[in-house]
Amino acid sequence: MTLTPTTIINDGEGDNVKGNKNINKHESRLDEKKDLLCERLENKTHCIAKRMAVLTSGGDSSGMNPAIRSFARQAMLKGAKVFAVREGYNGLVNDSIVPLNWGSVAGIISRGGTIIGTARSTEFRTREGRKKAVFNLVKNRIDNLLVIGGDGSLTGANLLRTEWCSLLKELVDDGKLSLDVMEHFPMLSIAGIVGSIDNDMCGTDLTVGADTATRRILEAIDSILSTAVSHQRSFVIEVMGRNCGWLALASGVATGADYILIPESPPEDGWEQTMADNLEKGRLSGRRCSLVIVSEGAIDRQGKPITSAYVRQFLEDKGHDARITILGHVQRGGTPTFLDRYIATRMGIDAANYFYDSTAEQLNQPVLIGMSGMDTIRSPLMECVQKTQSIASLIKERRFNEVVDVRGGMFKEFYEIFIACSNLHRRKVESKGMGVLILHSGGPSPGMNPCVRAFTRLGIDHGYTMYGCFNGFGGLALGEIEQLQWMTVNGWSVMGGAELGTNRSIPNDSNIEDIIATLERYKINAILMFGGFNGYLGIAKLYEYREKYQQLKRISIIGAPGTIANNVPGTNISIGSDTSLNNTLDALDKIKQSAVASRRLFVVEVMGAHCGYLAAMSSLTSGAERSYIMEKGITLNTLTKDLDMFVERFKREHRIGLIIKSELASNTYSTHFIYSLFKEEGKHLFDVRESILGHLQQGGSPSAIDRIFSTRLMNHYYQFLEKDLKEHGHLQMNGCIGFIDGGIHYTSMPDMIEEMSDKFRRPRSQWWMDLVETSQNISVFPLDDPSSTNFDCSSNLSEQDRPIKKSDISSPTSYSQKTFDPNVNPQFTL
Ligand code: ATP
Ligand code: MG
Repeated sequence: MTLTPTTIINDGEGDNVKGNKNINKHESRLDEKKDLLCERLENKTHCIAKRMAVLTSGGDSSGMNPAIRSFARQAMLKGAKVFAVREGYNGLVNDSIVPLNWGSVAGIISRGGTIIGTARSTEFRTREGRKKAVFNLVKNRIDNLLVIGGDGSLTGANLLRTEWCSLLKELVDDGKLSLDVMEHFPMLSIAGIVGSIDNDMCGTDLTVGADTATRRILEAIDSILSTAVSHQRSFVIEVMGRNCGWLALASGVATGADYILIPESPPEDGWEQTMADNLEKGRLSGRRCSLVIVSEGAIDRQGKPITSAYVRQFLEDKGHDARITILGHVQRGGTPTFLDRYIATRMGIDAANYFYDSTAEQLNQPVLIGMSGMDTIRSPLMECVQKTQSIASLIKERRFNEVVDVRGGMFKEFYEIFIACSNLHRRKVESKGMGVLILHSGGPSPGMNPCVRAFTRLGIDHGYTMYGCFNGFGGLALGEIEQLQWMTVNGWSVMGGAELGTNRSIPNDSNIEDIIATLERYKINAILMFGGFNGYLGIAKLYEYREKYQQLKRISIIGAPGTIANNVPGTNISIGSDTSLNNTLDALDKIKQSAVASRRLFVVEVMGAHCGYLAAMSSLTSGAERSYIMEKGITLNTLTKDLDMFVERFKREHRIGLIIKSELASNTYSTHFIYSLFKEEGKHLFDVRESILGHLQQGGSPSAIDRIFSTRLMNHYYQFLEKDLKEHGHLQMNGCIGFIDGGIHYTSMPDMIEEMSDKFRRPRSQWWMDLVETSQNISVFPLDDPSSTNFDCSSNLSEQDRPIKKSDISSPTSYSQKTFDPNVNPQFTL
């Protein structure tokens, strides 16, 4: 049977509706049809042309746009027709559903907010409203819906899904739909992505927007701290988070705040005096300012809200020069960070894959697409929502002991880390009589100072004697060692660079005996090298010297990843790479904007030595059409093909192209060579510019992720040491620690060495390699635009839609509701 708009849809005025009186009789027929459809889907004997829609709902968050972009493009590449529902559920209720094409999601990867609008819809909360939503979805023949929003939006989506059949029946009953339509839309498939700055959802390590919001908070607090220190002031900062204290917690850890107030863990009665005493304690130990972070949902143990004004007044009464800053909506806005672009892009792609590749049975189970480490995971949607919503009930019922546990492992861990590292905590701990030393090796990496701070404070908290070694292994040989006290590292959590210094020297025959002498002089039991590839070579060498120098066998030697290049073994990510990628994206966004007036291709060189991680990741999150990395090499053939690709696209309406090249991608084809080649061959059609980003990638204040993850890594370091001590009575761990699959793991020295490729100075296998192609696929405008082709695919749904016109596209700018003309979109392809 072929359905056409005129036969399937009746606006309620005509009477050409069949079966509206005999719903019950047809119920069993409907079930049969549903089974049949499921079977067809299962056997894939029919290629069903999918129609999918995306909507954003609830509070906006930065990163929603990259999710819309990747979802739409991946779905189009799979052959689907993709629609955007404007203004959240209001768009479903009011039939504000517009087709998207490749160009309509161009240039949005770096934009905050959501180009398709978001809203809180009262009408959708009613059954009548949802009935209209079903009608409009069916009218547009859409039965796959991606909802990007918070717990409320996802609950609404699930309700719509569960009521789908009964609402369809009512519509038939009302004479709005023919019974045949029901047979073709037996169910609504739902996927959810959590867009929320609060990071308040179970089922994902991070929600889309939380990292950007933390960045905004850190920018504000870092600025405030410099004035607070000058005047010896106390600052009370209020951050967002109604039921969830993540933003307060993460920024507390990242800035080394004195005190935080979060809804999950209300302070004991009399907390005001404890807070004031502890701030005083910090001042007496040398702090020139005090910082209290209050979550907007903070409460006391009776459930009474604690306001930032109350905290400030209390401190002022105690003689503090206390000021208050309520950060408000700046936390929501601004360009998304690298991590938000990354997770949103990955989740969007996975949502499209879920709709396309799942069996009918799987499609009948709504999923939440979340992140575990750097990978996406799918979880049952409503389990995650219910678990999340149970937290609000636990808080209401004042069952505070359970709240932090339900919130999940990472939240609990950071809470414990905050307590352990804060000035207030300082307690007398029995000394273990063991020395632990930290040094850096390799290039400087943002995150080194926060790491040393956490290393020192957590180590003191465990009863170790802490030492810092200046200038890497060379400094170790020269005995450049200083004992690290609690206050030595005060303020280091926000500092870029490396106060201990770093260089590329590694132990060798001429200095190994001096190194051993230093280690013995300071009675060092464990060395932690936090640095890059050279540092790993250094600890491997030290380990090798154990054969000759038995004294080294008494010392635990551990490496931890602290390099922007992310080229070290035993970890998926290294501290420093996040800051570096944010620096790169800031620069790329500006570079792209400079092309507004002309047709321009940019060839941008990024760092990374022999490892293409920075190039690949910045391509994925900036929308570059090509990334050239050493792992894949560059040949004349690829350059020629790519030149042809750009020529074809610039011949059309394209205004901008972007190639990101890793610094050592090729010995022969340098950045300048590629620039010259494209410039010569593309002249008259487009201009080419070359840009080498250089050391701006290594500098700056560490990002939120680099600050809090370096702290987390140190927390695990001590857990490993404690375990080692318990099992063996002395420290004997040798190897490295790093982030693997969302957790922190230890790799033994032989395994670590096995994993390192000396020749290429990077791990032998790299988890992100497949993303190079994915990135390219969703960034290169296909000449046969999949969104404008017919996709009959022997589906029995007729294709009588009006063709997608460019004027259908929703505005790419959140500031204008005018019709968007892609011909004037300067970033058409990215
Ligand atoms: P955030 O809290 O992060 O801002 P949210 O998605 O939780 O996001 P809500 O205001 O709770 O925000 O929900 C957004 C919209 O989702 C509501 O305006 C409503 O249209 C719909 N919605 C929420 N809860 C339900 C529900 N129980 N039933 C039907 N629709 C709902
Ligand atoms: Mg909510």
